[in-house]
Amino acid sequence: MYRLISELYPICRSITGDGLRETLRILQRQIPLELSEIPTGTQVFDWTVPKEWNIRDAYVKNSSGERVIDFRKSNLHVVNYSVPVRRRMSLAELKDHLFTLPAQPEWIPYRTSYYKESWGFCLSQRQLSAMKEDDYEVCIDSTLEDGHMTYGEFFLPGKTPDEVLISCHACHPSLCNDNLSGIALAVSLARRLNASERCYSYRFLFIPGTIGAITWLALNEKRIPHIKHGLVLTGVGDAGPLHYKKSRRGTADIDRAAAHVLQQSGHPYELLEFSPYGYDERQFCSPGINLPVGRLSRTPHGTFPEYHTSADKLDFVHPDKLGEALAVCLEVFSLLENNGTFINVNPKCEPQLGKRGLYRMIGGQADAGLSEMALLWVLNLSDGNNSLLDIAERSGIQFDALARAAKALQEHDLLGKQNEFMPLAARRAGGKQD
Ligand SMILES: [Zn+2]
Repeated sequence: MYRLISELYPICRSITGDGLRETLRILQRQIPLELSEIPTGTQVFDWTVPKEWNIRDAYVKNSSGERVIDFRKSNLHVVNYSVPVRRRMSLAELKDHLFTLPAQPEWIPYRTSYYKESWGFCLSQRQLSAMKEDDYEVCIDSTLEDGHMTYGEFFLPGKTPDEVLISCHACHPSLCNDNLSGIALAVSLARRLNASERCYSYRFLFIPGTIGAITWLALNEKRIPHIKHGLVLTGVGDAGPLHYKKSRRGTADIDRAAAHVLQQSGHPYELLEFSPYGYDERQFCSPGINLPVGRLSRTPHGTFPEYHTSADKLDFVHPDKLGEALAVCLEVFSLLENNGTFINVNPKCEPQLGKRGLYRMIGGQADAGLSEMALLWVLNLSDGNNSLLDIAERSGIQFDALARAAKALQEHDLLGKQNEFMPLAARRAGGKQD
């Protein structure tokens, strides 16, 4: 994941254009991503796909011909989506188009102007302070023309048409945590899930923020009912604790699964209630869509000083933190895959576990990996009304331990088998396991 982030870091991305395409093509080396090109002007709900932006170079030169602001040194130096400019001007005139962060005098801010045609440069306060009155040559060698908006999609079929949606934004230029970390995590998840048994189908979206999510939803309304769970991945590589932001529904399976896995993880974590601000969960959880899509991040956007600045660079993300986020996601999906409601077929008093060898297994818990409490909780609450996740929440026992207990109890014909390892949503849809 860290290697991928390092490779993608230098590319100047935006919500459209060749930087975004190049990024998606690099991802195609790892997963068979399908690229869609949506023409400028396409109406998507209340929005319109914008003109395509591309940039080759940009600078501000002083009268000695030195580049005092140079796009080649950092693509953050240009306000993303700046219209082309070739002019000479005084410092006073130029200052209307310069953006700095006085509180962090060494950092370059990240600014965009997607939906209002303008131009500007971002630079460190230190750089600005060194600029004297002069006759400056200003050049932004960009184009803003009718073209396309690109996004990437990878669909991983499972045994049922019910889907898990994993979405990340891929439109930010040289910023690592926001959101190369989310992209790298989604790619790793796709590879892992591709290599494992799965019941659900998984759909991965690598889209420009906001307009990409709106476009995908507008063009894929028929798919929306198939989405049973979803996660937006962003900002998962910094040193802060994991934060799970609940879906608009608040008590969806994904919300409960993420809470359970984080609680059992042993790592510090925070659960956040839904709010209509943030990343693309805003679109997935808009009232007319209302999907059970939560968001996994570390330190929430806007609450750390490096956010949307040049300090969100390679050393701001950590391989071990990415790994921990991957492990948590895999556990959440494993939980959703293995959740189900079972029936105790011997419900009158406790079954005699000893004569089935389960009692001895309890004695030697370490070998069998079975916990007595897990067996007893599964037997007691499996009356057809409680899923394994319900039992996990009520008992405080790790879902995994309950799933192993349920498997052992089924092998001994103590639990109803009809719905074995079939996600609830799939069973409701009448799906069959082969
Ligand atoms: Zn951002």
